[in-house]
Amino acid sequence: MTRIIALTNQKGGVGKTTTAVNLAASLASLKRRVLLIDLDPQGHATMGSGIDKHDLPEGSMLDVLLGDRAARDVMLRSESAGYALLPANGDLTAAEVDLLEREGRERCLDRAVGDMVADFDVVLIDCPPSLNMLTVNALTASHGVLIPLQCEFYALEGLSALLDTVEQIRESVNPTLALDGIVRTMYDSRNSLTRDVSNQLANYFGDQLIRAAIPRNVRVAEAPSHGLPVTRYARMSRGSHAYRVLAKELIRRLAL
Ligand code: ADP
Ligand code: MG
Repeated sequence: MTRIIALTNQKGGVGKTTTAVNLAASLASLKRRVLLIDLDPQGHATMGSGIDKHDLPEGSMLDVLLGDRAARDVMLRSESAGYALLPANGDLTAAEVDLLEREGRERCLDRAVGDMVADFDVVLIDCPPSLNMLTVNALTASHGVLIPLQCEFYALEGLSALLDTVEQIRESVNPTLALDGIVRTMYDSRNSLTRDVSNQLANYFGDQLIRAAIPRNVRVAEAPSHGLPVTRYARMSRGSHAYRVLAKELIRRLAL
């Protein structure tokens, strides 16, 4: 069974893309067949996978969403990281507007990827930093939501809006959408605020708080400028280790 997981948080800079890329690479190195869908016009997941977002001759997620090209034809392989990629760039901004005018507008992604997802064990969707129509499409097409979250004072504030959106999607188009977990990113256990927020998360979410936390690690931040996941760029780093531990935990929890 394929599991489709949306990495979502309407806050920018919380580690969605970093987690999408490194989780994709870690799951691939654990012999899972992985597809990463870049659904953010910033195209950072594309760049971080070693693909030039300005040079996509086979097209991008815009073409896929609008039904102009088949997902299979647009799909690339990130040779450096061992997973398949549906790339995106700034053109995707047009889709946000275009989708709004379509019939069944929240199902465009679901329809466009169709049965192709059956070729994969895991599909990860890197969402834009807003609860817009692209994110709604991701949540509609997914089995579960993974929420990367930085343990800081304002982290919890945005969370209720996100959980409300998830609930609305359940009530309207995707009743079985699950919360696959909350992942703490850029985690610094020496910081007391980090620990406080982390404790609040554990109290509120219980088992839905993923045990593996991703530490703040300079190698993680450097890796994208080399177009590599940290698991390839700095295999022995703390960041690389943490993403492998996260991948193993998700494999166990979700039977991937
Ligand atoms: P988002 O996709 O949620 O906007 P990103 O994944 O792009 O967030 O991360 C935001 C910034 O934080 C990037 O510059 C990234 O390199 C950096 N970053 C993410 N995770 C870590 C980490 N574990 N350690 C250090 N820097 C990180
Ligand atoms: Mg991002």
